[in-house]
Amino acid sequence: MIKSPWRGDFPIINNTQCESPYIYLDSAATAQTPASVIERMQHFYLNEYATVHRGVHRLSSEATDNMEQTRQDVADFIQAKSREQIVFTKGTTEAINLVANTFLPTFTQSGDEIIITDMEHHANIVPWQLLSERLGLTIKVWAMTSDGELLLDDLQALLSPRTKLVALTHISNVLGCINPIKKATSIAHQYGAVVLIDGAQGVMHQAVNVSDVGCDFYAFSGHKLYGPTGVGVLYMAKKWADTLPPWEGGGAMIDHVQLPMGTSYQAAPWRFEAGTPNIAGILGLGEAIKYVNHIGIDAISQYEEELMLYAEEKLQNLDSLNVYGNSDKRVGLISFNLGVHHAYDVGSFLDRYNVAIRTGHHCAMPLLARLEQTAVCRASFALYSDSQDVDVLVDRLNYIKKLLG
Ligand code: PLP
Repeated sequence: MIKSPWRGDFPIINNTQCESPYIYLDSAATAQTPASVIERMQHFYLNEYATVHRGVHRLSSEATDNMEQTRQDVADFIQAKSREQIVFTKGTTEAINLVANTFLPTFTQSGDEIIITDMEHHANIVPWQLLSERLGLTIKVWAMTSDGELLLDDLQALLSPRTKLVALTHISNVLGCINPIKKATSIAHQYGAVVLIDGAQGVMHQAVNVSDVGCDFYAFSGHKLYGPTGVGVLYMAKKWADTLPPWEGGGAMIDHVQLPMGTSYQAAPWRFEAGTPNIAGILGLGEAIKYVNHIGIDAISQYEEELMLYAEEKLQNLDSLNVYGNSDKRVGLISFNLGVHHAYDVGSFLDRYNVAIRTGHHCAMPLLARLEQTAVCRASFALYSDSQDVDVLVDRLNYIKKLLG
């Protein structure tokens, strides 16, 4: 039996209101929140509440200090060289939109090219499409192999002197594969292209060192890392922190405002953070990082790896289950379909038996098209998942199979 020593830290997982325990296997969509994170945000509202970067009063300056300390904690967590390279956003989606709306209009010309893969989440497709339409850019698709692998030779073949940006996901939210982000970055840089890594599924499963990867941008969301929703991070290499223009205007991002024109802006990262930030969310993210650091990301990786091996073996033994992607490289999740049965039917039955999985296109329609599917089931795991969750899933899938024939 593989038992998580950290399961007790998550109030909702231990919620006994259901007749039989609820099995939460949708952590790739959003991870549950440990009590310490909930308490940190509650503590802020109960004892420390004030806005940041505004007042000289004690509450405001303490909130500012706490937020800026969190920025440092985020920088340390992903091994960025300085906290000035960490921009707080609403999530991965907003982080990618920020890059699309600042980098592309400033550093590209009509006819330039962007490379994205066909395993991206829509968040790492649509922002590039919107800007490409506006700016006359061409999007080239780095297609995965039928095994769900991204080959560096294929990237090399797509790159040209007109390639300005390569965007790819660290870990696929459907296949669970880890992509060769460091090598891809190095190859793209040889052509002068900048690299954005979508780390939404990356940061919670293994240590990330953005300085070592050498990428220009790395984006992730707090809520997949045991933090709250509505907060995310964009890491930018110093060169971009120093040169990208602001994208949203308003309070907090300015240095001096005058009429009719001539406003000047703050340095990074504050230049990119117009308006009042999600202070409680940022502090919650900081607490989530503390929580993960306290356990140790390597201990989490090791635990999840053992659980994944168990889950893979159990699920592979279930006949008529089609599992997608390459089993050598799956992290944190398994996508599958049960025979000819539609994923929605399987997901709805599982829900009736108190098992939560995700079904549908997973915001990755091009990838689903490659799999020749319109919907798949996805069971995803986190540090609180255990082998009993897997056993219940397999047991219920067996039952549904019998029921549906
Ligand atoms: N990228 C990937 C790989 C994801 O899995 C997700 C969310 O599921 C996103 C981007 C978007 O994240 P958010 O909705 O938190 O901005």
